[in-house]
Amino acid sequence: MRQILWFRRDLRVEDSALLSNANKDVLPIFIFDKNILKSLEKDDKRVTFIYKSVLELKKKLQVLNLDLAIFYDEPKNVFEKLKKDGFDEVLCSVDFDSYAKNRDEEIEAILPVKRFIDSFILNPMSHLKKDNTPYKVFTPFYKSLNIITQSYNIEEFKANENLKKIDFDYSFIPTLEDMGFATVKLPDFLSKSAVELLEEFKTKVNDYQEQRDYFYIDASSKISVHLRFGLISPKQVFNYFKSFNFVDCEFFIREIFWREFYNYILFHFPQSEKNNFNNIEIKWSSNEDDFLKWCEGKTGVPIIDAAMVHLNNTGLMHNRLRMVVASFLTKNLFIDWKRGEEYFAKKLLDYEASSNIGSWQWSSSTGADSAPYFRVFNPYSQSQKFDKDAIFIKSVFKEFENVDAKLFHIENGLQSNLFVEYPKAIVDIKLSRQRAIDRFKEAKNEQS
Ligand SMILES: Cc1cc2nc3c(=O)[nH]c(=O)nc-3n(C[C@H](O)[C@H](O)[C@H](O)COP(=O)(O)OP(=O)(O)OC[C@H]3O[C@@H](n4cnc5c(N)ncnc54)[C@H](O)[C@@H]3O)c2cc1C
Repeated sequence: MRQILWFRRDLRVEDSALLSNANKDVLPIFIFDKNILKSLEKDDKRVTFIYKSVLELKKKLQVLNLDLAIFYDEPKNVFEKLKKDGFDEVLCSVDFDSYAKNRDEEIEAILPVKRFIDSFILNPMSHLKKDNTPYKVFTPFYKSLNIITQSYNIEEFKANENLKKIDFDYSFIPTLEDMGFATVKLPDFLSKSAVELLEEFKTKVNDYQEQRDYFYIDASSKISVHLRFGLISPKQVFNYFKSFNFVDCEFFIREIFWREFYNYILFHFPQSEKNNFNNIEIKWSSNEDDFLKWCEGKTGVPIIDAAMVHLNNTGLMHNRLRMVVASFLTKNLFIDWKRGEEYFAKKLLDYEASSNIGSWQWSSSTGADSAPYFRVFNPYSQSQKFDKDAIFIKSVFKEFENVDAKLFHIENGLQSNLFVEYPKAIVDIKLSRQRAIDRFKEAKNEQS
């Protein structure tokens, strides 16, 4: 039996379903997928991160006396060729987003594919309600998982020690430039391993619940990018924190299960990728100018602009800021959440279809267990509360270093400082909030 171990979003050797379930003669591979790459911008930060991670994976496999064959092609072409080379089956971890599902079906027509769940803790096919329908609300979903969440360890996959590297030409390593991409500078913390990030976060996890919303403080784990590309598994994150008795990690573990919840929702309700989960019909605004100003961070609302400029520069955005900019786009500008979702998909280093879609639908009050439609964040109160001294905002807009912090938390406050050049806010917060509430009310009435 000659097996292909197809690494995709599981770029690790620990807790690896592939290395555990393989039998003997294996060809580990990674494909730089031309279908995906052609839709990305040439300075996409994720490509630099994946590239670096694939080379690290190759080294780690070599330590295990294996190797990694790297391809730059469309998966279909790679597997057609490997079939001719006499390979029998493909092992990979499941990916639930729509491109991945279609791609895997296409490969299954060429070679048998065995799929394993290891990018998430839960198999979304299990854990149904008593009436055999899926949960739609987070709290009962989470409570139903008590046995798992209260346990101290979830069993990890152990690599099969009898694996043997198949003779193959493992020498091909395209450069980023060969593939049409630039090597871009990544945020410093991404040069750390997942375990280093967890070790750092261990000293902060007791304060996580209290501090995590203050977006000028470095209070969260910053593990999402490593989780996204499988440099660490969610089980390993869970087991790491559960192994310390002195650490109060319950609240943090709950967050890890939001990731599971959104994956579960997208699996059971795939139509929610493109449609409002709650089927409400909303006549969104089509103001392209407002949308562009939101994307570019030119709305005249300091917290929104700082968050968006930071996203554009770094590929990162704090969770609280994601909620605030999403509320602003969908409620104050009344623009369809799908536009925001697509923009985040292009920019976020940790872009995960299920979490992004679920969170956007939550913010726009169209989703599973989402924010009530009358809950509209006031961006000025949010910056006043969570960045009182405008530390984050000033870190992005360095030219405002000496401006009185209070002015950032007042609508058009910066305009009162004659030395500051800053656009006027593109919406009136009070009026736009009321407009959103009225329109949601109308849509709800029409629905019932
Ligand atoms: C509009 C919007 C879009 C989002 N898009 C994404 C996305 O594309 N990818 C993504 O990983 N997260 C997304 N999130 C969730 C959250 O913002 C990030 O997971 C978090 O900011 C990552 O930083 P961290 O690792 O320091 O998180 P921590 O606060 O340390 O949390 C630990 C982990 O728990 C998970 N998590 C935490 N909060 C959530 C949440 N609300 N939903 C799902 N998982 C969560 C993540 O895997 C995260 O890494 C989005 C949130 C919003 C409001």
